[in-house]
Amino acid sequence: MSSNVTDILTANIRRIRERIAVACARVGRDAQDVTMVAVTKYAEIESVRELVRLGVTELGESRPQQLVSRSEQLPQSVRWHLIGHLQRNKIEMVLPAVSQIHSIDSVRLLESLNSSARKLGVRPRLLLEVNVSGEASKDGFAAADLLAEWPTICLLESVEIDGLMTMAPHSEDLPNVRRVFRELRVLRDRLAMESGGTRSLPDLSMGMSGDFEIAIEEGATIVRIGSSLFEGIPDR
Ligand SMILES: *Cc1c(COP(=O)(O)O)cnc(C)c1O
Repeated sequence: MSSNVTDILTANIRRIRERIAVACARVGRDAQDVTMVAVTKYAEIESVRELVRLGVTELGESRPQQLVSRSEQLPQSVRWHLIGHLQRNKIEMVLPAVSQIHSIDSVRLLESLNSSARKLGVRPRLLLEVNVSGEASKDGFAAADLLAEWPTICLLESVEIDGLMTMAPHSEDLPNVRRVFRELRVLRDRLAMESGGTRSLPDLSMGMSGDFEIAIEEGATIVRIGSSLFEGIPDR
């Protein structure tokens, strides 16, 4: 790996960690409470390897196949996050490799995961993806559907529901982006309350390169950063 790539990644990591810290400070949060997942879907494996060597251990991929293949090529210490759509026929392939799945978008998928998990003797950590903005192009539960299905979801005993995930609209309208993040947090609080305190749903996965500071101000515990991390790397 050329020292050039190392230098660029080092600077990018430092700059993003600083921005996370500043956003946390603005709202009186501890920067330790925000996890940066490095989204590697567009990056060359060699750049990703370098990122890991520089101490980044939480990596996110959109495609189950690429996640599994990269997990075999990179150190065991990496914790893998699946952030893109999961088809039911890929569940048993991806489960052994993944630490957290952010993109659970139906009860049917949850039920399949629950039975695979029971069969394999594992307990996957999951986030329920919510389409807060209601855009037709987005995956995820409608908020009203999730509320209606929540009692059913709470009966699934072989999966751990860590919280919620969303994607903000592509929007220069920052108040609207903030509103989406805030609504996800309010929905989380409501689901936790309706579970009678049995589910605390600690994680909110929200915020990407263009909007992670707003997400942190609104309570994100996980931000998913791709393009800003690899900015300036040639040939990706
Ligand atoms: C690609 C992707 C990201 C990262 O987006 P950037 O804008 O490149 O930081 C985050 N979350 C999801 C679900 C993605 O697909």
